[in-house]
Amino acid sequence: MDRTDIIYNLAEILNCSALKYEPLSKHTTFKIGGAADTYVRVTSLSKLSAIIKECMDSDVDFMIIGNGSNILAPDEGYHGVVIRLDGDFRKISLVDEDTIYCGAGATLAALCKFASRCGLSGLEFAWGIPGTVGGAVFMNAGAYGGEMKDVVYSVNHLTYDGEAGRTEKDDLEMGYRTSVYRGKKAVITGVTLKLKKDDPENIRARMDDYMGRRSSKQPLDYPSAGSVFKRPEGAFAGALIQQCGLKGKCHGDAQVSEKHAGFIINKNKATANDVKSLIREVQTKVFDETGYNLECELIIL
Ligand SMILES: Cc1cc2nc3c(=O)[nH]c(=O)nc-3n(C[C@H](O)[C@H](O)[C@H](O)COP(=O)(O)OP(=O)(O)OC[C@H]3O[C@@H](n4cnc5c(N)ncnc54)[C@H](O)[C@@H]3O)c2cc1C
Repeated sequence: MDRTDIIYNLAEILNCSALKYEPLSKHTTFKIGGAADTYVRVTSLSKLSAIIKECMDSDVDFMIIGNGSNILAPDEGYHGVVIRLDGDFRKISLVDEDTIYCGAGATLAALCKFASRCGLSGLEFAWGIPGTVGGAVFMNAGAYGGEMKDVVYSVNHLTYDGEAGRTEKDDLEMGYRTSVYRGKKAVITGVTLKLKKDDPENIRARMDDYMGRRSSKQPLDYPSAGSVFKRPEGAFAGALIQQCGLKGKCHGDAQVSEKHAGFIINKNKATANDVKSLIREVQTKVFDETGYNLECELIIL
């Protein structure tokens, strides 16, 4: 029994799948994290609204998780409700010849495939980023010269007060791994994207090219959360870390990747504490030896 039982019971009534003491290691690409008191897959806007209202009314902490590909969840778990958008939130549809509407719970992979099949270009950069569309907007995910900012037209959300609303492109404040949603008490529920017509074969070729570059440079055979640090002005985090002789450095089973020093990998049973202490050592050594301050891109819960 804990404070989130009320949400667990409501989720059952609403026919949403709910799990007690669900290890977050199963829901993060790092494969790290203790249990969430309650983990719920919410399948529609009305159910999301009901769950959030109950959390707010009962003063129960909650958080939204996407694909867990940019977070480090604590070893001691999360005493609250972790909400994953599912069902309706995974739907993707063509609105008109160059516009797609995509639920925030859909994966970027599903969205990229849909866009390429429709002959719509602009999302190739996102092929291989293992997040959801909601997480990608929240973070303004980007790669190979592209970013969500270039393709997002507007974003639908539900505030924690239960109001459904929309933010237009110009008000999204999308910057380097940030958007207006990082400071907003709101759940991103869906995204409208404006893309450009192109030959599906050309789109597919660009996607394959980016994926090839990823797999040749990134340690994709180990659990990780991608680049741990933001790119500092005028330098590359990975190069600075390598220059300081930290490639391969381990704290427990957390290791600075031998393949790409900007990544920390989970070699087997790394804990969040292993990752955090390795991050601290990297930041300290890089600062002492180069004067660069490495800020985390990874969100440490
Ligand atoms: C191998 C690998 C490669 C990667 N490469 C890249 C890359 O090239 N470029 C890049 O930018 N990132 C990259 N990443 C990091 C990560 O995939 C992206 O940041 C991604 O956008 C995170 O999406 P997510 O759904 O996993 O979000 P999560 O990690 O689940 O969540 C991240 C944050 O977003 C919030 N959030 C998620 N969904 C919502 C929502 N619907 N409403 C409100 N808040 C929400 C969460 O609460 C959390 O604070 C990589 C990660 C890995 C593991």
